Parts: sequence; C-alpha cells; structure tokens
Amino acid sequence: MIGMRKPFIAGNWKMYKTAGEAISVATILATELSGEKDKKIMIAPPFTALHAVRDVLEGTPILLGAQNAASELEGAHTGEVSPRMLMDAGVAVIILGHSERRHIYGETDALVNRKVRLALSEGFEVILCVGETLEERQTGVTEKVVETQTAAGLAGVGEKELSRVTIAYEPVWAIGTGKNATPQDADAVHKFIRGVLAKSYGEKASQAMTIQYGGSVKPDNIKDLMKMENIDGALVGGASLKPETFLPIVQYDR
Ligand code: PEP
Repeated sequence: MIGMRKPFIAGNWKMYKTAGEAISVATILATELSGEKDKKIMIAPPFTALHAVRDVLEGTPILLGAQNAASELEGAHTGEVSPRMLMDAGVAVIILGHSERRHIYGETDALVNRKVRLALSEGFEVILCVGETLEERQTGVTEKVVETQTAAGLAGVGEKELSRVTIAYEPVWAIGTGKNATPQDADAVHKFIRGVLAKSYGEKASQAMTIQYGGSVKPDNIKDLMKMENIDGALVGGASLKPETFLPIVQYDR
C-alpha cells in the first residue's frame, strides 16, 4: 500500500458466534487494540450480537460493522434488517455484495447497488465486495467481472460519497478455501480496479480509495499482501473469528 491510504483491516464473522461468544472475542480485541491509531479496524458480528458488541467497543478504535443490510428502510420485508435498525445498533460500516450474498442468495448487481446507495444516503460507510469465481478466472474474464461489479455497484454514487466506500476484492475461489491469490496476482486486480474507479471519478479520487483484499488472509500471508502498492487492507473471514489469528493480522507491521 502507499502512504496516503490508511490500512483498513476488517473481520467478517459470518454466521458464527452467539451474543455471549461475540462479547468474549470483542472484549479481548478491544483491550489489545485500544492503542491502535494508525489503522482502521472493524469487526462485523452477526446481527443478533450487534447491540452487545457495540457496548464492548464503545470508546475503542474498533468500528462496528454489519454483514448486510436491506435495500429498503422499512416495510413488509420479512427477515430483512433495515439500515436504520443498524444505525440504531451502533453500526458504522456495512459490508455489501459479499460473494456469499451474491452466489448463495442470488443478489444481483442491481440489488447490491440499491443497497449501496441507501446505506450511503443513511450516512454509513460501505465495503463493496467484488470478485470472480474460479470458472470466471479460468476463462479469462476476471477483469470484466470486477469491472462490471464495481461500476454497477457504484452506479449513481457521487464523488463525495465515494470517500465512504471501500472496495474489497475477494476472488470467490479464495474465500474460506485456504487458497489465496498471490500478492502479485491480487495487486494486479487491485490496480485494475483503481483504473476502473479513475474512469468514473478521476485519478485523484481513485488514488485515495482503499481497496482491501479478501480470501484466506492469515497471519502468515498478511505481511506480503500489505507490501503491495495497491493492497490497502484486508477483509478477513475465518481468521477473524479468534483473537489468536486476528490480532497478528491487524498488527502485521509489528
Ligand atoms: C470473507 O468472508 O470475506 C473472507 C475473505 O473469508 P476467508 O478469510 O475465510 O477466506
């Protein structure tokens, strides 16, 4: 990464942890990371643990994240969680377009875009996830896929709001599989995404954007990833569930 962008390490706890378990892990992270000033840190517990974890994180530098949000503010949407409810729960950042939402729950670019615009208009920061499947990589359409997902996901988002958006490049074949992209391969896609952003928002805005890598990030590969010019942080799934693995990722530069 380059100096002007602050490293951003985020943990996605997916569908793991009861409220009690979430409090235990968040308490350790809050204590251990209380002095971190030079990085942005976020954890995204499941919805049911948000209120409890908010209380633990209060006064610490760790931001509270949500893993998804509805594309509407309220109404007859059984099972959905509105951005307003997330604001009430203390959430600052919402992860949208995660590949598990796209591929298991059929979220389209159009739906992800509605969610992104609504979340931004409600004052949140957003992590917009993009990434190709194994088949797409093997057929040589990685750039096309990430360009489409990035441009469609951000359609209608103005330059001012862009400062509250982080892109997470997460090759689907690397998520939860133990296979990660090489730092060089990941950096090449990050550079490409930065170019896509520059087309719509200009070079200066694109250089200021944080682009995280996600996909089997572990304590032993984070250092090499963070050395790359266009990799500004990580979105971490499995390894964010335990302090023993998440803390060394956050503190990769120690
Ligand atoms: C993720 O959930 O966004 C992720 C990258 O998972 P993992 O680190 O387990 O591959």
